[in-house]
Amino acid sequence: MGDSIETKIGLEVHVQINTKSKLFCGCTTEEGEPNNNTCETCMGMPGAKPVTNKKAIDSVIKICKALNCEISTPSFFSRKTYFYPDLAKNYQITQYETPLGKEGFLQVENTKIRIKRVHIEEDPAALEHAGGGTLIDYNRSGIPLAEIVTEPDIRSPEQARNFLKKLINILSYLNVIVPDTTIKADANISNSKNNFIRAEIKNVTGFKEIEKALLYETKRQQEEEVTKQETRRWDGTKTIVMRSKETEDDYGYIYDSDIPKMTFTQEYINKISSSIPKLSDERIRELTKIGVSQEDAKVITQDLFVSDAFEKIAQKSNPATAAKWFRKELLKRLNADEKQIKEVNIEALTEIIKMIHEKTITEHTGRELMTKIYDKNFSPIESIKKTGATMIKDTTTLKKMCEDAIEKNPKAAVDYKKGEEKALNAIVGAVMKETKGTAKPDEVKRIIEEMLTTL
Ligand code: ZN
Ligand code: MN
Repeated sequence: MGDSIETKIGLEVHVQINTKSKLFCGCTTEEGEPNNNTCETCMGMPGAKPVTNKKAIDSVIKICKALNCEISTPSFFSRKTYFYPDLAKNYQITQYETPLGKEGFLQVENTKIRIKRVHIEEDPAALEHAGGGTLIDYNRSGIPLAEIVTEPDIRSPEQARNFLKKLINILSYLNVIVPDTTIKADANISNSKNNFIRAEIKNVTGFKEIEKALLYETKRQQEEEVTKQETRRWDGTKTIVMRSKETEDDYGYIYDSDIPKMTFTQEYINKISSSIPKLSDERIRELTKIGVSQEDAKVITQDLFVSDAFEKIAQKSNPATAAKWFRKELLKRLNADEKQIKEVNIEALTEIIKMIHEKTITEHTGRELMTKIYDKNFSPIESIKKTGATMIKDTTTLKKMCEDAIEKNPKAAVDYKKGEEKALNAIVGAVMKETKGTAKPDEVKRIIEEMLTTL
């Protein structure tokens, strides 16, 4: 369509890096009583000297490589100067001129979203507005963050959501972020109708809120005329003007001479690169090659540990059956039981999937066996031997059972013949009960239907 409006969205995503201590001091990153996890350095006392946390740097370099970035070497820290009570030093230690990573990309379905930069910085303190005053908690001050900035290559709020999903998936595979982390993002949005004059929405927290804010702002810009750059905030239902936009230069970044410059050798970068596990895109390609459906593969690879467990099981059983069972049964069960894949007896799960694939047991029996799946000593094969819950393969026996059930439910049989389809359920149910769930409901239904129509 020639007259359609083109939207451009760029994101700046902040995620917390999962280190034990803060970025420039030894204070713990764990939650605690307000202002207890603090020291001279993260409180910005005179004379306190920052010492860089190597683990945090390693983690962000890992992110840079997974996002196909070039590594800046040397790379250094700068002070971003502004006054606000959440910033004890009156500046934030961040990176400006030499981000750890630059010029990368992330493939989201058919679109390459360019990554402009990835840098590391410290989180400011947390402010809590309460009872007419403001409380400040410096526990957060100095927590390491990675900031990931895209070029404005995103074309819709939906694509932004897919980008974030993919990004979080990669970050969790890399094991560099806190599990179930909440992401914070700033977004810039513009469109062709307004000559791409951008609005920036600051500090939106959480996946869903980010998408909602983008949907609102995209629509607003399509309806209203945008004449100047501005910074807006999201209040949960709409975006509101905060100020005309300042530029990054206005912050007056200066080189932080307290912190040594970092240089990265090729050997170091290679070592970090080789620690990156196989990511989900590659896994999806491999899984679909061995017969797993695209849909199942996508769900299974959402989590690294589920994906690893699946690969183990798929080697010993039928991959397509295993995948279906993972998606339809295992993941739902883990969710309902609030359990993790690492708590599952993988051998037992493999046995169940094999028996289902070989039709030794019904899915019904499989589901029953799944209730004991966290028991490390559980053997489904032994359990089946004891209960005799193997699938009825002998059709003569099954037919006899169906005949008996029809005889015992004469009213249902008559109703069915009159055209009441539902009446059949009573008879099928009776047979299933008699077989203790070891027959296939579909097959039972087919046999009964045949009997009733030929009687
Ligand atoms: Zn500290
Ligand atoms: Mn930032």
